[in-house]
Amino acid sequence: MSRKGSKDERRPHRTDLYIDVPEICWPIVYSPDYNITFLGLEKLHPFDAGKWGKVVNFLKEEKLITDDTIVEAREATEEDLLVVHTRRYLNKLKWSFVVATITEIPPVFFLPNFLVQRKVLRPLRTQTGGTIMAGKLAIDRGWAINVGGGFHHCSSDKGGGFCAYADITLAIKFLFERVDGVSSATIIDLDAHQGGGSWYRNRFLHNSNFIVTWLVFCELFSDQQAKTSIKRKVELDWGTEDEEYLQKVEQHVEGALNEITPDIIVYNAGTDVLDGDRLGGLAISPQGIVKRDEAVFRAARLRKIPILMVTSGGYQKRTARIIADSILNLHNLGLIDQETVAQESGNSKVSPLSMLILSNITTKFTFKKIYRIEGYRKTISNCVHLVAD
Ligand SMILES: [Zn+2]
Repeated sequence: MSRKGSKDERRPHRTDLYIDVPEICWPIVYSPDYNITFLGLEKLHPFDAGKWGKVVNFLKEEKLITDDTIVEAREATEEDLLVVHTRRYLNKLKWSFVVATITEIPPVFFLPNFLVQRKVLRPLRTQTGGTIMAGKLAIDRGWAINVGGGFHHCSSDKGGGFCAYADITLAIKFLFERVDGVSSATIIDLDAHQGGGSWYRNRFLHNSNFIVTWLVFCELFSDQQAKTSIKRKVELDWGTEDEEYLQKVEQHVEGALNEITPDIIVYNAGTDVLDGDRLGGLAISPQGIVKRDEAVFRAARLRKIPILMVTSGGYQKRTARIIADSILNLHNLGLIDQETVAQESGNSKVSPLSMLILSNITTKFTFKKIYRIEGYRKTISNCVHLVAD
């Protein structure tokens, strides 16, 4: 493809997030550090703050992955975060009351900040690192899933709605700055909320060298200013059910991808669309969510567009089971697999080669794009234990 964007003239900083992952690993990223547990404090929040670990446990029970075949996320460092965030904003997180407001956990207000950093922000930084890592994996393998992440309410200088770091913006900016051949992205945001504070206002994403488009479904567009930046917006009525929802998802995902073929799709797969969600307002069934994810992956894989999925909002007790079921469904249909990447000769070219076998189509598709990965590279011997103690 023609290269639409030029890389940042400054050399990207050294990062541990763009590692080479052994072929044995699935491009599924997770760390036990994702889960927020602290003296039962997490129980004061309406969220199931351990859902990420439960998803992985279900996937292990179903023998899709093991500890040896999952990619362990690394925590994003301050330097990584500064790629998008202002130093002023990161400094503000050193005040516990700011974090209490962002995470909507009032008791955090009373905790010393070193505990807030360790018990609340570190999990969110690790999930953010996971999204950035999954971005590169999606390019390498054709698809990747971060079991956490999807903090679409956070912008470069403002957090909110349980989102302290702008992981999606970071993942895209890392790709734009470090991977030649990647200069356009489409964000498909199917969380129940708009994510108003997020990417829309980030000037870099409006840089003419790069193209970022958004498809946003939500129950209510809460941020009218941000709404004007969204290329394709679908406002859903309160209580929308499966049939109408799935018909619209299919129509608009296909429509958006027919309009523009991006170098990567970031799929914000919020499950707060689920019936009974206290914050969502929609009435989608568990099967509806599975079918929705299937429609998005099918559209991406048929077009050979790398897709990065993050799990975003949705924290009911049954949410983890639904996410796991959806991932298993994608695998059963051949929409995700463990096909490894053929490493070309030379040390800086990676040829994403992923074979797609659809449930009803036996044709195999091959990724043809050649990407050049820049920045720090490191080969590791195993998928796990990447996080240094
Ligand atoms: Zn949401």
